[in-house]
Amino acid sequence: MPIVRLDEPTIRRIAAGEVVERPASVVKELVENALDAGARTIRVEIAAGGRELIRVLDDGCGIPPEELPLAVERHSTSKLQRFEDLARLSSYGFRGEALAAISAVSDFELASRVPGASHGARLRVRFGKPGRVEPVGMPPGTTVTVRDLFATVPARRRFLRQDTTETAYIQRALTALALAHPEVRVELVVDGRTVLATPGRGHLLDALVAVFGADVAAQIVPIEPDGDREVIVHGAIGLPSVSRANRQSLFLLVNGRWIESRSLVAAIEQAFHTLLMVGRYPIGVVAVALPPDRVDVNVHPTKREVRFADERAVAAAVHDAVRRTLLAHLPDRPPPRVTFDPLTPPVVERRLLVADPSRAPAPIATAPAEPARSETREAGDDRTGSRLPVLRVLGQLRQSYIIAEGPDGMYLVDQHAAHERILLERLLDELATRGVERQRLLQPLVLELSPEQCAACERYASELAELGWEIELFGVASVAVRAVPAVVQRNIERVLVAVLDELASGGRATTPLERIAISTACHAAIRAGQELTLSEMRDLIRQLEQCRAPNACGHGRPTVVHLSTEDLERHFGRR
Ligand code: ADP
Ligand code: MG
Repeated sequence: MPIVRLDEPTIRRIAAGEVVERPASVVKELVENALDAGARTIRVEIAAGGRELIRVLDDGCGIPPEELPLAVERHSTSKLQRFEDLARLSSYGFRGEALAAISAVSDFELASRVPGASHGARLRVRFGKPGRVEPVGMPPGTTVTVRDLFATVPARRRFLRQDTTETAYIQRALTALALAHPEVRVELVVDGRTVLATPGRGHLLDALVAVFGADVAAQIVPIEPDGDREVIVHGAIGLPSVSRANRQSLFLLVNGRWIESRSLVAAIEQAFHTLLMVGRYPIGVVAVALPPDRVDVNVHPTKREVRFADERAVAAAVHDAVRRTLLAHLPDRPPPRVTFDPLTPPVVERRLLVADPSRAPAPIATAPAEPARSETREAGDDRTGSRLPVLRVLGQLRQSYIIAEGPDGMYLVDQHAAHERILLERLLDELATRGVERQRLLQPLVLELSPEQCAACERYASELAELGWEIELFGVASVAVRAVPAVVQRNIERVLVAVLDELASGGRATTPLERIAISTACHAAIRAGQELTLSEMRDLIRQLEQCRAPNACGHGRPTVVHLSTEDLERHFGRR
């Protein structure tokens, strides 16, 4: 084939593919335009997952009639004049591509009225072919209507998912923008039903209430900004009690832009380490502010990804800020010194040892995982004070659960999970202070191991020794165990093998030292199915009362179920 110049509609449709991936990208671009236009109110209406209709109405600065044709042309923008301006840019847009791209693949209409004008004007563009500018009566601001998205691009249309999925993408995008701009009233109407409406009063907390509901928002706490560094982390993060089963409720902002970043998400999840069950994810808005020359926003046509000059430093700052916030909200600590917004009423401290029964329809409330101090480097951060009330042991259920009475009702304690928590805190305390207490065996215990287990022994020899495991390799597949952590009272072989298997499988985002501590605690703990005497149970409960984070084991599973007096009375129809 000879080389020819592509015609303009073809060029547009190819380019459109980059910017407009799915209906949610259209919503994001249009709402960002409205934000750039200084809108105070933005309303988004969609039908059939955005396929049939996307309409974005704003009350921003508008576009004069004579500029409407230009607005839908490629590379036309009012936001950037020279490339050098890019570094100092405070607007979302700068590429001048979105309207051109969207109007190339939809039945599109741009209507706008600048404040002070007696009426507005509109321009319809059908799949890349612009019509004539016509006058129209409308309030000041801009309304963009997109119908039949991708009707002429079957490949893209086939690629779209079910309406509900596309709607979810749209809702997530709009939620992110709403949280980034608490000063703007943002509304989303899906098939005639309002699903999101922020008040636009300028407070992040208000926006969080609109997004998550008051109960969940009450458990989202401000991240205290840390001003010592170039990277400032702020926003608000949900306590472990309000985690979700997916990552869709955590939003990242960099210099006010909503972005996706695996490394920052990983840093946040790492900060929750041992506080959340496997498969549970944090919620909140984590915002990063840094000098504009330390971040490049122009790496992706949709600007969803950014490049940091020093990504590790940003991730470390995010991790530390989130971790610090979580630790500051352990029980028995004074409320945070700094609140993120002096105009906002302080976050209601509604953190309870166990979930508030009045908020849970189910009669039994499971204790949420409380933040635990589980990293040795936070050893200086000492907290005593018991988190569980003093409990009176009544008995054992199924040789697995301890039934106890407290000042407010009944407590069911999982004996294995509770013991695991006790041992973990003991190991971590010892590690952080005088070193892990070890018990020397009278005779070395010789064990046959698999090659993987031997390799783990060799590779993590120093970490194992630090936690009390003194092991010597001899031969290809045997080891001699000379000393064990004092917490391991029996079944040495079984515990060690489990620890080595967990080390060998690598896995989760934890240090080897943490992995050894967690699995040692888990496998040394008493099991379910073991009968306990009353005094053993009392002992266990006493120790659990001393724990800093008694409500979850090292793997984040709950240890305690609480049935309050009120629950009981309600259940038996006494109130
Ligand atoms: P960009 O946002 O990168 O400048 P767009 O194609 O999204 O490119 O928009 C082109 C131009 O149209 C913008 O620079 C702006 O001047 C104008 N515009 C788009 N949407 C709006 C709006 N909602 N209100 C006012 N002006 C708008
Ligand atoms: Mg734009």
